[in-house]
Parts: sequence; structure tokens; C-alpha cells
Amino acid sequence: FVTARYADAVPAAWGLDVPGVLTALPRSAAPAIALTFDACGGPGGSGYDAALVATLRTHGVPATLFLNARWIDANPDTFESLAADPLFEIANHGTAHRPLSVTGRSAYGIAGTRDPGEVHDE
Ligand SMILES: [Zn+2]
Repeated sequence: FVTARYADAVPAAWGLDVPGVLTALPRSAAPAIALTFDACGGPGGSGYDAALVATLRTHGVPATLFLNARWIDANPDTFESLAADPLFEIANHGTAHRPLSVTGRSAYGIAGTRDPGEVHDE
């Protein structure tokens, strides 16, 4: 379904600065901060900073945790604990940690997905 829907779409932007991505709050907004952390897993390691997570919990600091499937597979008990903790929002960091491209573009030296089907799978 996704593959068919976007089969003929032509990409118009690539990178971190693309339409629809918020990189700053409006000037009228109250000062705020959003903490986000990535757990990528894979060849670079599937560890995490347990002391950091403990500190967030101790001080009741909410955070969004972007978890890759490789990291979840390597840390199932930790994943269950984090997912059950209302302090944390669990977010999608992919399955194989591939940049989402429809043309195979790479980012950070990592080969991107090559078409909408691979984007869907990732
Ligand atoms: Zn990552």
C-alpha cells in the first residue's frame, strides 16, 4: 500500500532542515527544553547510559527515547522497563538504523533506504 502510494513521488528535500521539521520554538513560547536520546544498537554497541536514565528517574525529568529495533532486541528487559515508565515516551528509531531516503542517499556514512518499500520496512 505505502509502496504503491509513493511509487511515482519525486523527493523534494533531503536532510535535517526540511519542511515540517521543527528545530526551534516560536519566540512567543515560554522557555522550554525537550530531551531526546537515541539508542541505536548494532555494530557500534547496544549499551546505554544507565546512570543517565537513573538520574532522569531520580529527578522526575521526562524524555523521549528513540529506540532502534536492534537495541530493543539486545535489551528486552530494559526496554520493557523504559516502556512501562510514564516518564519516558518511546519513539521509533528504525529497525536497521538506515536513513530514510527514497533514492538511496546516505547520511552519517550510513546507506539510506532506496525506495518507498524499504522506507516502510525500516
Ligand atoms: Zn541512531
